[in-house]
Amino acid sequence: MPELPEVETVKNGLQELCGTTLKVVITRFPRLRYPLDTTKLNQEAGSKILKVSRRAKYVIIHLERGYLLIHLGMSGRITLLKQNVPLQKHDHVDIVCDNLILRYNDPRRFGCVVYITELENSSILGKLGPEPLEQNFTPDYLYQKIKTRKTPIKQLIMDNAIVVGVGNIYACESLFLSKISPLRNGLDINLKECQILVQNIQKVLHEAIAAGGSSLRDYKNAHGELGYFQQSHNVYGKAKKTCRICSSIIREIRLGQRNSFYCPQCQS
Ligand SMILES: [Zn+2]
Repeated sequence: MPELPEVETVKNGLQELCGTTLKVVITRFPRLRYPLDTTKLNQEAGSKILKVSRRAKYVIIHLERGYLLIHLGMSGRITLLKQNVPLQKHDHVDIVCDNLILRYNDPRRFGCVVYITELENSSILGKLGPEPLEQNFTPDYLYQKIKTRKTPIKQLIMDNAIVVGVGNIYACESLFLSKISPLRNGLDINLKECQILVQNIQKVLHEAIAAGGSSLRDYKNAHGELGYFQQSHNVYGKAKKTCRICSSIIREIRLGQRNSFYCPQCQS
């Protein structure tokens, strides 16, 4: 599943769209997670692409009157084509801008391409917490949000209303680096620990974005695709392996419907 670093990488790869003119949007399978109103969107034909940004795991294409939001869901992929190529299975949407085609492919269709005219007040983006890499995600902010919560810290940092984009991998890894057990409740975490945790969330995300940038270049040369990448992890996916720090066995538990990995020795 694409996480925040992949989406950031995709967003960076789409900067060549800026300054081009939207010609047409073609949908071949409109039943994605949210419907795409192509009639309304195609009234933007002739609009310039003003900017391509990211909020949480949405890529946002800023047009003159509104915004195109793209979410990759579980299996979405974006390819930026310099010329038309034969369609593949699950190529659902083409966004044609001058001589570039942004092609959206999504086998499982949990993603979406939607057109909206209001950004921060929209039903999709309006309730989201701060971005983890921006200045308003501070230790004190996190502490205020969690200090009365009887919910495991791992679930709290994965809650989009508290902070966006901390996916399962990054939650496991940042808790490991912070030596905090994923099972501890929010109300047991002090301000000092929030400080360490915020730093480590930002560290793992920055490292993943940097890794994505380099693997993206290789990938793009071969396929013209902007997509996924793998990184090495300390605990995520390492159940029954030994901890790099203390050689204890990494434990796997279910927490809030998600598999969680941690070192019972290093994390308390
Ligand atoms: Zn350990």
